[in-house]
Amino acid sequence: MTAAGITAPTIPTEPAPRSAAPHGRGRGCLITRRACFSASHLYWLPELSEARNRELFGPCSLAPGHGHNYELIVAMAGPLDADGMVLNLSDVKHAIRREVTEPLSFRCLNDTWPEFDLSRPEGRLPTTEALLLAIRDRLRPHLPIVGLRLYEQPDLWADLRVDPAADPMEAFLTIRTHFAAAHRLARPELSQAENDAIYGKCARPHGHGHNYLVEITVRGPIDPRTGMVCDLAALQRLVDDLVVEPFDHTFLNKDVEHFASCVPTAENIALHICDLLKGPIAAQGAHLHRVRLQESPNNAAEVFAESPVLDTLPAALAALAGA
Ligand SMILES: [Zn+2]
Ligand SMILES: [Zn+2]
Repeated sequence: MTAAGITAPTIPTEPAPRSAAPHGRGRGCLITRRACFSASHLYWLPELSEARNRELFGPCSLAPGHGHNYELIVAMAGPLDADGMVLNLSDVKHAIRREVTEPLSFRCLNDTWPEFDLSRPEGRLPTTEALLLAIRDRLRPHLPIVGLRLYEQPDLWADLRVDPAADPMEAFLTIRTHFAAAHRLARPELSQAENDAIYGKCARPHGHGHNYLVEITVRGPIDPRTGMVCDLAALQRLVDDLVVEPFDHTFLNKDVEHFASCVPTAENIALHICDLLKGPIAAQGAHLHRVRLQESPNNAAEVFAESPVLDTLPAALAALAGA
C-alpha cells in the first residue's frame, strides 16, 4: 500500500558491486518489529491542586492509576548484509526486550524511568508520546531506528520520526473514531443517466450507507511537563463536536450543508473534515497533520493537511505495519 505524499526515509546503501551481489548485499531496506507490553500510569502533577489535576487530566488522575496493553512498532533501515538481512532479528528482539519491554512490563510507568519522576523539575507525565520519546532514547544507541509507533489502545497512538533533521521533541498523535452516515454520489447539474455513468450504483436515487472510520493525526512539540502534544480530551471533544455529532446518523447530502453542493465522496468528506478541524486544532496549539477516512474495508481517503511541508513517515509506518 502506498499513499500520496509519502517520502521514503533515507536508507544507507553501499556502492553497487560490479558482479551480482549475493543475497541483496548492500541494497537498502526498511524493516519493522512489533513488541507488546502492559503497564499502568497515573497523570498527577504534584505542583497542582487536586482540583486542577482533575480538571486537566480527568479520570487519568484517579489514584492509583490505570493500565494499557501497549503495542510498539519499531522501524529500522539499512543495507542488507551478506546473509540478506538488515539486522539479525534475534538481536533486534533482544535489544527491544532488554531496553523496553523488560523494564516496563507490569510496572507503573511513573516509577520506572527518571523521565517520569515528577519530583524532578524535568520529569514529565508518562503519556503515549512521552513514553515513545523515552523509548527512542533507549533504542537509538542499539538499533538503526528511523521511526516508532506506540499504540496505547487501538484508537490512540503516537508516532515519532527518528531523523537528525526533525525536532527531537516533536511527535504525532492520532485518534480514531467512527460515525455512520448515508450518502448519494451525484452531481445535481447532471441527469440520472449521466450520474449513473460516472458513479455507478453509488448514484442510485435513495442513497446508501457506510460505517466510516476517521483517523485524525496532529503534530506538535511534546510539552516538557505534561508530556502531551495537545490536550487529548480537548482534541476528542473537537472531533466529537465538529465531525461525529453533525455527521453521525445523517444523510450527508441533505443534512450537512456543505454536501448540498459538493459530492460527498470519501475524498470530499476527508477534505471537509480537514477544513473543519484545522483552525480549531491550531487554536489548541497543535497542527492538524492528516485526516484518514475509511469508507469500507476496501477504500479509504487520506488528506495531508500540511503537505508538502513534511515528509510523511507515519503514513509509511502505517502502511508497513498493516495498520
Ligand atoms: Zn492511560
Ligand atoms: Zn458510498
